[in-house]
Amino acid sequence: MTKAAAGGDGADSSIADQLHALGARGVLVQMAERGQLLALKCEMPQCYHHKGRGAFDPVTTPRTNWAPSPDHYPILKKDGGHLRPENVRLAHVWCNQRDYSWRTQIRTLLVKGKSLTEIAATLNSRSVPPAHGTNRWTAAMVRKAYVS
Ligand SMILES: [Zn+2]
Repeated sequence: MTKAAAGGDGADSSIADQLHALGARGVLVQMAERGQLLALKCEMPQCYHHKGRGAFDPVTTPRTNWAPSPDHYPILKKDGGHLRPENVRLAHVWCNQRDYSWRTQIRTLLVKGKSLTEIAATLNSRSVPPAHGTNRWTAAMVRKAYVS
């Protein structure tokens, strides 16, 4: 982690090395090699790993919940987004899946004209896990999560 940046082009080879060591390939490694990732940390608005954003499992088949995963962002895959460096953030598999789940549920309820308070109540009734360290969705949490 303390390896010097490579070549002065902003690329931090240590992040690419860490991703390689985990068995990651593809766009995340490409981004690290280009200096487009600042750290090996889950970048999701809500991270659920009990050891924190920097703890990752090696990539296996199938991937564990805590392996690195490229999240389509800011354009969701369902909206036509692609896994290219300009549309990816680093996630844990689990955090990526949770984000997709609550984000699409919130969006559907917004389209139906529901208030943030109603959406929070719906997510709580569906037992959708809220942010780490909290136990219930609130209107403010719904809005903050959705716009992040
Ligand atoms: Zn995470």
